[in-house]
Amino acid sequence: MTVTYEEALQRYEPVFGLETHVELSTRTKLFCGCPTSFGAAPNSQVCPVCLGLPGSLPVTNQTAIEYTIRIGLALNCDIATWCRFARKNYFYPDMPKNFQISQYDEPLCTDGYLDIVAGGTTVRVGIERVHLEEDTGKSLHVGGATGRIHGAEYSLVDYNRAGIPLVEIVTKPVPGMGFLAPGVAKAYVTELRDLLRSLGVSDVRMEEGSLRCDVNTSLSLRGSGVWGTRTETKNVNSLRSVERAVRSEIERQAMVLDSGSRVIQETRHFHEDTGVTTSGRSKEEAQDYRYFPEPDLVPIAPPAAWVEQIRAGLPELPSARRARLQEEWFLSALDFEALRNAGAVDLVEKTVLAGASPAEARKWWLGELARRANDAGLQLGALAITPAQVARVAELVAAGTLNDRLARDVIDAVLAGEGEPDEIVAARGLAVVSDESALTKAVDEAIAAHPDVAAKIRDGKLTAVGVLVGAVMKATQRKADPTRVRELILKRLS
Ligand SMILES: [Zn+2]
Repeated sequence: MTVTYEEALQRYEPVFGLETHVELSTRTKLFCGCPTSFGAAPNSQVCPVCLGLPGSLPVTNQTAIEYTIRIGLALNCDIATWCRFARKNYFYPDMPKNFQISQYDEPLCTDGYLDIVAGGTTVRVGIERVHLEEDTGKSLHVGGATGRIHGAEYSLVDYNRAGIPLVEIVTKPVPGMGFLAPGVAKAYVTELRDLLRSLGVSDVRMEEGSLRCDVNTSLSLRGSGVWGTRTETKNVNSLRSVERAVRSEIERQAMVLDSGSRVIQETRHFHEDTGVTTSGRSKEEAQDYRYFPEPDLVPIAPPAAWVEQIRAGLPELPSARRARLQEEWFLSALDFEALRNAGAVDLVEKTVLAGASPAEARKWWLGELARRANDAGLQLGALAITPAQVARVAELVAAGTLNDRLARDVIDAVLAGEGEPDEIVAARGLAVVSDESALTKAVDEAIAAHPDVAAKIRDGKLTAVGVLVGAVMKATQRKADPTRVRELILKRLS
């Protein structure tokens, strides 16, 4: 028996929450001086501290604390005046100390929110906590078909990542979104990613694992007021997967509940290829980790003046920028969302700064250029054309040098690497024929070639003008401005 998404939503109300892990872009690790750069040779960025060798002692990286406070402030959180790290005890080969230094009952930032826009409406997502911990190493399972430990011949461990500062951002449960739940989850991660990027605290690359998401989902029977058992889906490594993971868990849990069974509290794995989750381990309870305050580190007690200094140094946040650009560009919330979903906000802003009108900039990036990016399977920003070049094309159109068709040719030539728009116009002779005598000659020739049409126009049948305009456009290889051609024909035949 399967349950469709629509059927599931008729009977159940989804509740979701997100735990997002963000690797901070500090130069060194959280408790030692090892570098944090991505892609170095395995185990080349390690020392006794991050390998957990006996006798080594951690020292907290102040920049990591500052970045975490910056995130907390941007998420409207309260910042603790005093808090401690905690040991989270569990055994895993990629964790050399057999415990992780994390935060438990004393997180650095608590009780905030992030406003997001989804489907044109603003939703306030509550933030439960923001805490700082160290990342683990990475296991590589060799010899199996799946890259997982099952069936592997042996495993290798790379500790370069062990000890990189990791911030965990936990939302409060988000109920009441109904059908929109998967889209709201995706919009939250998108907004959070943009926020973290604007704060300059992480490179937020989901594909490199510097932004990772776990999605909690549960269903409650409509009208019951009782929240169901939640599952935690891991391996959700793209924005699209966030949406798919929530949707797939809603369908799966509805099927379980409809069949009279119970949803089991467990960790599940999301599979990018099939879009479904499969069962992982049953979820540990907090007591399984035997947390206790980390005895090797002093407490964190950020002075109020320092926190205020960090607050004063916050950049313009995405929500403020969105409000400003929406107003400057005369856009509705939905229009702006379309720009953001296309990855075009920065491009349009730069194009406007280079001299194009917001409407022109938006038209080219969301129209012709989005089409070409789509055809080539590229992100919009990866197209071989700069905002300044797009602005120049828009300027040439506004000045009457190019019509839209010629502008498209110029854009194709820029994308093909033929040079700057002006060079292309000159080299290819693409400019609109605006020489009046040349145009008048073409108009006279068209009238001479179609005497019957000319007669109709003289009799007042203006719909026939199109035939002559078409003839002139053909004669000029479509380089004339059709509006001007029409004016000239009517003048000649009046
Ligand atoms: Zn180290």
